[in-house]
Amino acid sequence: MVTAIEDLARQILGAGATWTELHQFVLRNSLVPKDIPLRGSCQGHISQLCQMKGWPLPLNATNLSLERPACLIHWRVLASLLNVTSEMVRIHFHNLGTILPLASPSPVVQATQSSEPSEMRTPPPSPSVQQRHKPPTLEGLPRGFDTHFHSDRMRSRLHLDAATPLDEVLNQAGQPLDESSFDLVRAVQVFCDPPTWPQDPTFHPCWKIAVGLHPKHVSSYRSNQLIKLKSLLSSPDVIALGEVGLDFTAGNWEQQGKVLEKLFKMADINKPIILHLRGTAKDRYQRAPLEECINIAHAAGIQPNQKFHLHCFSGSCKEMALWTKNFPETWFGYTGMVASFDEHQLSALRAVPECETVCAGNGCPLPMASPRSPRD
Ligand SMILES: [Zn+2]
Ligand SMILES: [Zn+2]
Repeated sequence: MVTAIEDLARQILGAGATWTELHQFVLRNSLVPKDIPLRGSCQGHISQLCQMKGWPLPLNATNLSLERPACLIHWRVLASLLNVTSEMVRIHFHNLGTILPLASPSPVVQATQSSEPSEMRTPPPSPSVQQRHKPPTLEGLPRGFDTHFHSDRMRSRLHLDAATPLDEVLNQAGQPLDESSFDLVRAVQVFCDPPTWPQDPTFHPCWKIAVGLHPKHVSSYRSNQLIKLKSLLSSPDVIALGEVGLDFTAGNWEQQGKVLEKLFKMADINKPIILHLRGTAKDRYQRAPLEECINIAHAAGIQPNQKFHLHCFSGSCKEMALWTKNFPETWFGYTGMVASFDEHQLSALRAVPECETVCAGNGCPLPMASPRSPRD
């Protein structure tokens, strides 16, 4: 069961994704109710898992606490996760059950105590399973363009150094077992973590580069970083500023706003801005960061014809209209959060006039980019 869940993390979030990241994905997207009543047999499985991993029990008197990573083993959480995956991933997970006894986790839990992780991950598949899981070939697959790819984070997940060429990174990451697989022909690599900013951006016909400062990094912001960023942006081989923005799930809102204004002031009208705007858990339509960002953009002198990629949009039609009234040349990007969208958010998604691109960046769970035509 442990192996199956680790595999599910990679299927949903991409190569190298971990149990912890899958747990954060469940919390972030509010996939299941906060407290789930527990029965005796579930408690036994969870206790075994926690004992094996050295985790605290995610249990109070009668309920499962979602705050603990062990909650992923509960069937309600697994069912919710499978509900947001594709049919192929569900079949893959189900097939794992034929080689790993999902219905009775105890033997697997015991086996893992005496086995190395690598042994756990490679149970001998039957020929029929091997056949079903044959990696897709690129021939005949639709061509894809990933608009938001954190290749630096993928490198670190795969324990590769910064100099590893992207083709090599993608080779090591392997092909996802998913019917939405595509031939990745272009990608925008988003470097927004100062320690992994490219030292010397160079031209590549397919793998483009954007540089920015993620709003969650502003607490460690130093003014010399802006000088470095400005110099990177001046390179003709850096095609966009981003991601930058506001993330109200983190503190220091005021500082985020001040830094964003400085970043906007160095924007180049010929280079799109990739925006990350996120509201608090109560602000599901991200109204507050959208309004704040519009004010900051105007104060910084951003022109109405500036191109934006608003990459994790979750607003309703009202928020979409508010933004496009100010900045009509915007492309809206959607992430795996669509799984928990309400009707108002889905209406906005349906209002996007064209849907040409599906991206599979590792930084974005179940990502899907929906461009909005500038004319709209
Ligand atoms: Zn983001
Ligand atoms: Zn991102």
